[in-house]
Amino acid sequence: MSSDAPQQSVGEHSGRAARLLVLSGPSGSGKTTIVRKLLKDSPVPLRICVSATTRPPRTGEIDGEHYHFMSKEEFERRRQNGEFLETAEVFSSGYWYGTLKSEIARAAEEGAWAFLEIDVEGALNVMREYPDAVTIFIRASSDDEYEKRLRGRGTESEEVIQKRLATARRELSLADRYRYQVVNDDLERAVEEIQQILRTEEAD
Ligand code: 5GP
Repeated sequence: MSSDAPQQSVGEHSGRAARLLVLSGPSGSGKTTIVRKLLKDSPVPLRICVSATTRPPRTGEIDGEHYHFMSKEEFERRRQNGEFLETAEVFSSGYWYGTLKSEIARAAEEGAWAFLEIDVEGALNVMREYPDAVTIFIRASSDDEYEKRLRGRGTESEEVIQKRLATARRELSLADRYRYQVVNDDLERAVEEIQQILRTEEAD
């Protein structure tokens, strides 16, 4: 676990601070589909921040698009160099993930909101540095749903499923730290709720 304190200038461009949207949700919350829909149809300009990770690319994943894939050594060097806003070892997997400050600065340059899709540990660190970040926790309609959806995918081993369920339980216990919680009982409705949150927050 680590919180990488940002420099004062992070996310600022020509005096303009980036607005941050942080979205988290346990495996099986349907978060990935929501992110995809929001990027297609958002009431505010959103720029997704491409995270760095030490996990190897999956088939079809492109470096610089899905993630900035890097070795443990490079990740650690850049962490020591202060290049990350936050880092976390997700799912106790041995793989590290992190948000590069340069990604947030780029969003600010474009006048867009920096959109972070990160785990709860990372989100708690971001909240400490950016108390104004708009944070949204996506939850499934019931606690049984996570397991059902995880198993439904049929892609993960039993060991991975158990680890993800344990992480989901831990994440759910921290959901009230987020500014908003959105229940993904119906995809279209959940996306509309988030769009409305963004309209309200943009007006503030
Ligand atoms: P996956 O390996 O399946 O692409 O992602 C696993 C998890 O890593 C997701 O739950 C996602 O929210 C989280 N994640 C992705 N990027 C980051 C990041 O930059 N920081 C943190 N803390 N978590 C991340």
